[in-house]
Amino acid sequence: MSKLLLKNGIVVDPAQGLESRLDVLVENEKISALQAGLRAEDAEVWDLQGKYVTPGLIDMHVHLREPGQEEKETIKTGSKAAAAGGFTSIACMANTDPVADDVSIIKHIKEVAARNGLVHVLPIGACTLGLQGEHLTQIGEMQRFGAVAFSDDGQTIGNALVLRRVLEYAGMFGATVIAHCEDRTLVNGGSMNEGLLSTRLGLPGIPRAAETAMVARDIEMARNFGRIHLAHISARESLELIRQAKQQKAPVTCETAPHYLLLTEEAVGEYNTNAKMNPPLRTEADRQALLAALQDGTIDIIATDHAPHTLDNKRVEFNLAAFGIVGLETALPLLYTHLVKTRKIPLTRLIELMSVNPAKIFALDKGTLRPGSCADITVIDPELTKPVDKTKFYSKGRNTPFDGWPLCGWPDMTIVGGQVRYTQKAGVLVKKP
Ligand SMILES: [Zn+2]
Ligand SMILES: [Zn+2]
Repeated sequence: MSKLLLKNGIVVDPAQGLESRLDVLVENEKISALQAGLRAEDAEVWDLQGKYVTPGLIDMHVHLREPGQEEKETIKTGSKAAAAGGFTSIACMANTDPVADDVSIIKHIKEVAARNGLVHVLPIGACTLGLQGEHLTQIGEMQRFGAVAFSDDGQTIGNALVLRRVLEYAGMFGATVIAHCEDRTLVNGGSMNEGLLSTRLGLPGIPRAAETAMVARDIEMARNFGRIHLAHISARESLELIRQAKQQKAPVTCETAPHYLLLTEEAVGEYNTNAKMNPPLRTEADRQALLAALQDGTIDIIATDHAPHTLDNKRVEFNLAAFGIVGLETALPLLYTHLVKTRKIPLTRLIELMSVNPAKIFALDKGTLRPGSCADITVIDPELTKPVDKTKFYSKGRNTPFDGWPLCGWPDMTIVGGQVRYTQKAGVLVKKP
């Protein structure tokens, strides 16, 4: 079994309240020691002077497209993108084809992921059959075979009675339900944020109430019937409701995505389809409200909503283009450069948002470097500065609005279960056959 000794890095482990220069010893897939001046005769030694060593990043909102749309992404290419982006665990949404709405698909995803062995792939099961919002899936069975959460993401469960049953049923198994909050009747074919800009561009708008009205309903559902995690929050009114609900101890948590923190609807500019996502990019006031909500704890998690598409899905009229962008390979440096380096939040808070809290909310045995825990580790190089180059992505998706952005804080090394899966120098290291 291989032994790794990570020397001289600055360990940032919010779960232990740690931010100090320590060595990390990895043995038998686990962290075996964490202290200064460690020695180990037979270990492979990495000098991480000037770098941060953090618990492995966890992305709870990823679309891997397999099975069914392998031209957009596969479990393998998505896992490579994750490793290259500093993620050691990714949870994949159920809106594949066929939908991950029964045990056979959950098993299939686990098997393909295990064969690739790059990062931990955690399947999310559908709440309703075929994401149709009518008949409940076998939540308990899917959980037994490895589903870590349940969601109809891409769709909102419109029928509140069905959602009630989902919450009650998932609650019996202690499973978390992730809600995609969107009132379809209000979306009404819209393709960007509704406002002056959409009018000027002549594009049909999506009103902010399409999100906020559903957030309000889901908070009431959570209060009465069981815990909900709200996906990709984008509007300031939604944050107000969530803040208030949390003060009243409603069992609600939420996430936002890097693009809502860094871009506004202005990015749509001259009909840039790589700025088309769902929910849509909002205004500067929303962006500021999201930053404040990161600081005050209203937002629990940052997830990418990694949504790869083919060029053909995006090289069309704005109205016809697919929603969504890729995120796995840009999230960490984007957030490091624009949140940590600019002192909007400290690195410890970013690690809470990207590792500690996902582990806590979804009951994963991860999110810390405490001795005895699984050796999932992300090493960050705060000094390395280079532009985003979408032609170098491991993901099949090239749909990013961040191409060419100069960023720092790139992942230097990704270690998954004690195995080095990515280094800045060598790239992604595929499992030996
Ligand atoms: Zn969604
Ligand atoms: Zn999604």
